[in-house]
Amino acid sequence: MNHQTVGDRAAHLSPEDLAALRENLHEQRLFRQDQLRQITAAPRAEDLRGRRSAAQAEVHVKLAASARMVLADVEAALGRMADGSYGSCHLCRRAIDRERLTIVPQARYCTRCQRVREAGR
Ligand SMILES: [Zn+2]
Repeated sequence: MNHQTVGDRAAHLSPEDLAALRENLHEQRLFRQDQLRQITAAPRAEDLRGRRSAAQAEVHVKLAASARMVLADVEAALGRMADGSYGSCHLCRRAIDRERLTIVPQARYCTRCQRVREAGR
């Protein structure tokens, strides 16, 4: 009866699930790092041609900001995997649905808490 010791820490996720989610997170991290490189590199070339409008610059800033945010979430999720706290909600401490993690592996909150947070904005 060793099940209890695994307890809070992602007992609903099998080692295979975790391996797949970790791989997904690594891919996302690479994708976002690449995206950020492209976003931060692109404006300079456009500047040289003098074709960069203020609107375009704003889009770049927003894209870079959201890419950085996702990247930070992904890195935090990898950190939680390393310390064993991955898979439980930051607010209510309950297990986050496996289905939800499959879609959003960097999810910090369960579906219910996420809804509450979004409603509170
Ligand atoms: Zn929750």
